[in-house]
Amino acid sequence: MSELKMDLIDNENKKQKPDADKIAFGKHYSDHMFIMDYSTDKGWYDPRIVPYEPITLDPAAMIFHYGQTVFEGLKAYRTTTDKILLFRPEQNFKRLNLSSDRLSIPAIDEELALTYLKKLIEVEKDWVPQAEGNSLYIRPFIIATEPNLSLAPSETYQFMIILSPVGSYYKEGIHPVRIHVEDEYTRAVRGGTGKAKTAGNYAAAYKAQERATKEGYSQVLWLDGVEKKYIEEVGSMNVFFKINGEIVTPELNGSILEGITRMSIIELLKDWGIPITERKISLEELYEAYDQDKLEEAFGTGTAAVISPVGELNWGDRNMVINNREIGEMSKKLYDTLTGIQTGKVEDLYNWTVEVK
Ligand SMILES: *Cc1c(COP(=O)(O)O)cnc(C)c1O
Repeated sequence: MSELKMDLIDNENKKQKPDADKIAFGKHYSDHMFIMDYSTDKGWYDPRIVPYEPITLDPAAMIFHYGQTVFEGLKAYRTTTDKILLFRPEQNFKRLNLSSDRLSIPAIDEELALTYLKKLIEVEKDWVPQAEGNSLYIRPFIIATEPNLSLAPSETYQFMIILSPVGSYYKEGIHPVRIHVEDEYTRAVRGGTGKAKTAGNYAAAYKAQERATKEGYSQVLWLDGVEKKYIEEVGSMNVFFKINGEIVTPELNGSILEGITRMSIIELLKDWGIPITERKISLEELYEAYDQDKLEEAFGTGTAAVISPVGELNWGDRNMVINNREIGEMSKKLYDTLTGIQTGKVEDLYNWTVEVK
């Protein structure tokens, strides 16, 4: 690493790290965070690592009013030989810039951002958990900070990275979940912001999620916002089906978020010579395949769970039980391969991991 121009202010009040078996998602934060500022005249400037602490913003800061913000989510894993690995982090910064472009936020230098992230993790390496299944969740994000109520892009921003140790997503082993088909609310529409990781999409999903939770489902299946006919995503994960030996996933259409787990699964399947197709999949087609005993597996994919098998899919009075509520063979193989690569247990044939030294 060449000499980085970056300030580092050490935090002298180090926190106690949470117990490995008691880590709740998103509740614990490390001792330091990364910040960089932007103004239209200076561009991005003053990258620094500082003690983790609250930030001060003007109440008129544009983030609060018009939601001009983007975020990312990835993890750092500790291998059994005590290396720290990131999984395809360059893809996260590439996607951050794609999201920013949609929200009229200025781009960051992707390579520099990765260098800053590596430096931050180096400083916080003791925060990368040891225990099997645990990891350090990384949340890069950008907020519009200009105090101004005019409807125009902010002239100032902050780019920050915070770190949060997280426990295993599957403490009690992988168990397939119940999913409710959402046919009233829409997550995102073509031409909207669905393909960007931006706050509003997630706030807009709570209403459907609340109802599904109340009715005993763990997530909702989102349909396209135009015809309410085609499958888009499950909760905040991409979705795959195995129908009659073929793996299918909804094609990217502007309202689907392009997951890095999704991308990796498609690449793995292609490499394994297993038929994988990105195309439109209607709910009707799915129920037809089910009736003909051809719907073999269904699973969501994303950084948090990697693979989340669907055991049951409910749409009004139509109910499907998939693979006897058990994880499918393909889901299991993909899960083992991806988590194996991420944690250094399976050889990384694709150069996906980046070591933090
Ligand atoms: C982040 C996200 C995903 C999954 O992306 P990964 O890069 O695989 O973690 C899928 N759908 C939505 C809506 C998301 O926000």
